[in-house]
Amino acid sequence: MDYNMLAELLFPHIDKTPADYEKLYPKRELAEGARVTRFAPSPTGFLHIGGLFAALISERIAHQSGGRFILRIEDTDKKREVEGGVEKILDGLLSFGIKIDEGFVDYDVQAGDYGPYKQSERAAIYQCFAKELVKKGMAYPCFCTEDELSAIREQQEAEKLLPGYWGRFARCRGLSFEQIKQNIDAGLPYVLRLRSCGSEDKKVSFKDGIRGKIEMPENIVDVVILKSDGIPTYHFAHVVDDYLMGTTHVIRGDEWISSIPIHLQMFYMLGIKPPKYAHIAPIMKEDEGGKRKISKRKDPEAAVSYYDEEGYPADGVIEYLLNLANYTFEDFRKANKTAHWSEFKLEMNKMSNSGGLFDLVKLNDVCKNKIASYSAEAVYELAAAWAQKYDTELYALLTRDKAFSVAMFNFDRNPDKPRKDIGKWSEVREAFAFMFDELFDGKYEEVPNVSKEDAKAMLIMYKDMYDETADNQTWFASLKDLAEKVGYAREVKEYKKNPDAYPGHVGDVSNVLRAAVTGRTKSPDLCSIMKALGKEKVLERIDRAISALAI
Ligand code: GLU
Repeated sequence: MDYNMLAELLFPHIDKTPADYEKLYPKRELAEGARVTRFAPSPTGFLHIGGLFAALISERIAHQSGGRFILRIEDTDKKREVEGGVEKILDGLLSFGIKIDEGFVDYDVQAGDYGPYKQSERAAIYQCFAKELVKKGMAYPCFCTEDELSAIREQQEAEKLLPGYWGRFARCRGLSFEQIKQNIDAGLPYVLRLRSCGSEDKKVSFKDGIRGKIEMPENIVDVVILKSDGIPTYHFAHVVDDYLMGTTHVIRGDEWISSIPIHLQMFYMLGIKPPKYAHIAPIMKEDEGGKRKISKRKDPEAAVSYYDEEGYPADGVIEYLLNLANYTFEDFRKANKTAHWSEFKLEMNKMSNSGGLFDLVKLNDVCKNKIASYSAEAVYELAAAWAQKYDTELYALLTRDKAFSVAMFNFDRNPDKPRKDIGKWSEVREAFAFMFDELFDGKYEEVPNVSKEDAKAMLIMYKDMYDETADNQTWFASLKDLAEKVGYAREVKEYKKNPDAYPGHVGDVSNVLRAAVTGRTKSPDLCSIMKALGKEKVLERIDRAISALAI
């Protein structure tokens, strides 16, 4: 058959050749070793934590090599597309500090010389490459109906054969030009299929950046490259896009590994060099003793919006994901306390092929460390920004007196051993409730080992000794004096040496005061809290505790 004639019959409107596009999108001039990667999500409604993970790995690999990171939107499956899908993806990536060089850099804003970066805007490009395959006899139209395809499937199942349109099942492979023309003139719908050049007994192998060498049987199926509406399948769009966009490393979910023989075959048939591949294992979660993928139906933490709603600091989440990618991140963090996460060199070959276990407790821990490393001012800004969105009562309280809130966030924020009590902004309300009368429930938490009578006596005496101008040392010295007055040991050491001689020690005394002022027996530095609250409030709370103890 004259394949050129067939190509013209199928694609009369396509007048460009692949060479024209190669001219339009010239090879990138990159420094030695610079990598071009991309994140290529479908706009199906929300950004999954696994998507953020893949985007982060791709972004790191590009930027730590001086390369480029692209955001491409794969919207060829219109059925799955959700309105606002692109915006959600962008919101997610940008709020976590993922820097995008090319493609969608903002809502409706595409940057870069290799666009358009939305597949639905690239139909003519795919059709041009498809036309080229037809010209070479490497692709053909297939008119089989759904029913015919199901019949093939059933027969293959019954005979326990490889499913798909291949070999003797690939009926439309042998259609003549006349038959094809007749069908087209009759208006029959058709898809375009690759005329696979693979053979059953041959293997294809490639080196995966994460898993190392992988060998698989060659593809023998005549897969669809263009659907009946002329829109490409994922396979074909991937090959054409990553070729023209100059992607050097395709980093994607490992559900695509099984499609590698198809992709490599397409690159081969088009006469172009494939990129390097790395396949990421999905993020897993422990469930009833076993492991399973994080699921968007079962797990709220599957959607990245969850982290924003809960108020996890973005860099804490990113650092946790880097931890999940490379366990060496933890050592890096220990050795470089103040370095930005982007200074860590991510290594793909250190990633696990079985999928990291996602653990919210560990995430919270990482975020606690992160928040502990911020200045009080930064904590204030971030906590207030979160509260403005998600807890307006807290927002009003935090911003009522900025200096007061900053002083509060400064409690125990000493650089050597900062207190680590909050891992996310939604914990601020509970952690600092005692700082605001509106949130403080005024309950006195009884101090173990101290009788009510003793506690009451201590508080009554303390009222007379209270000097709100005293510095931390003088303040603590006064508690020692108070301990002595009520027959408690001045020093913990003293008490430990001779525990039968005292009902308790100065620590118990300070805890009684702590319980009165904060309602709890654990809190940040009490002297700072009392200073921030001010004399009036402190005395009011002491009185309240005294009455509670009288009952
Ligand atoms: N659109 C594909 C997906 O969401 C992209 C896979 C790839 O990165 O090539 O799974």
